[in-house]
Amino acid sequence: MTSSARPFLNRRLAEFGTTIFAEMSALALTTGSINLGQGFPDTDGPEEIREAAVRALRDGRGNQYPPGPGVPELRTAIAAHQQRRYALSYDPDREVLVTAGATEAIAATLLALVEPGDEVIALEPYYDSYAACIAMAGGTRVPVTLRPHEGAFRLDLDELRAAVTPRTRLLLINTPHNPTGTVLTRDELTAIAQLAVERDLLVVTDEVYEHLVFDDAGHLPLASFPGMRERTVSIGSAGKTFSFTGWKVGWVTSTPDLVTAVRSAKQFLTYVASGPFQYAVAEALTLPDTYFDSFREDMRTKRDLLSAGLREAGFKVFEPSGTYFITTDIRPLGAALSKDGDGFAFCRALPERAGVVAIPNAVFYDHREEGAPFVRFAFCKQTDVLTEAVTRLKRLTT
Ligand SMILES: *Cc1c(COP(=O)(O)O)cnc(C)c1O
Repeated sequence: MTSSARPFLNRRLAEFGTTIFAEMSALALTTGSINLGQGFPDTDGPEEIREAAVRALRDGRGNQYPPGPGVPELRTAIAAHQQRRYALSYDPDREVLVTAGATEAIAATLLALVEPGDEVIALEPYYDSYAACIAMAGGTRVPVTLRPHEGAFRLDLDELRAAVTPRTRLLLINTPHNPTGTVLTRDELTAIAQLAVERDLLVVTDEVYEHLVFDDAGHLPLASFPGMRERTVSIGSAGKTFSFTGWKVGWVTSTPDLVTAVRSAKQFLTYVASGPFQYAVAEALTLPDTYFDSFREDMRTKRDLLSAGLREAGFKVFEPSGTYFITTDIRPLGAALSKDGDGFAFCRALPERAGVVAIPNAVFYDHREEGAPFVRFAFCKQTDVLTEAVTRLKRLTT
């Protein structure tokens, strides 16, 4: 600290000083706990895709700055994937932008589209970078809270409608939803689309878990709803779908004007990233449906294993319809064990008590009290790791 009283971190970011993930991962190390806090897989994605990255490196593809919008092979593959899965047509040259993961796509989109003072409506609890990016853009976040209803966290459409004001710039939607595992239904998405059209709003939709939907309905992209193609910025990523979260290859698909706007911000963030990995992800996106189906089935099995174990250990489980997270309510464990339903205190004590790390959902809320009793566990881990975690958690109540 200098002698001046002014803190180093600016006012826009002051509230985001440190993340709970750092604290919990450190606790996992010192206590030898199983870390079900952070959501990354403990097994790498397909060998042939790893080899594709090695080949690109060796062949000298992507070792120097790739083109600003992304390598043509990947943009073509992204457009083809949208066409094949959802019958959505995007021009690879004008309507696709490759980013440094979905994280940069979110940042660049908000920095490009939001003026200081604009309101951004986001579903609460939210992915932690949303609040920080809205703040960096100078926007005001307006949370609409998903609340438990019949075993899942659901959107209150009246509340969403009421949140729209003349200052609303955009709706920031996330489906499948992290951390709750909620997948918005066709009716909910239809209502969101109608609202966006009626109030002439832009919609940014984070669909990084598009291939992790366990319902038979499958993933429904918001851009495919009537009137949405021209007002929606869709965000995708290879990290979650192909289990290569370290590669940081994400993308934006939208209209030429919106993609150009997002690119204007993106070029001054990373400019470009992940050169050789872009070629590998282009190959990954053309994997046959059997890859996507068996990946999803594998995750569904893991979900079932962990949710059954959590239930037996005494938690209330909100069975996720998508993503690789399970949100639980700790209150059924009793006042003493659940620290009076205080998820923060519970998660701080859990490594010592049970040798497992989880994340208090309250960190994803502006209305902390709404999220207090909820705790999130990740199930994108090897089966024996999940089995051991369940064994440890059951010891809580015995
Ligand atoms: C993991 C995640 C991201 C970030 O994706 P990257 O491609 O790793 O940057 C964005 N949104 C949600 C909801 C996520 O869970």
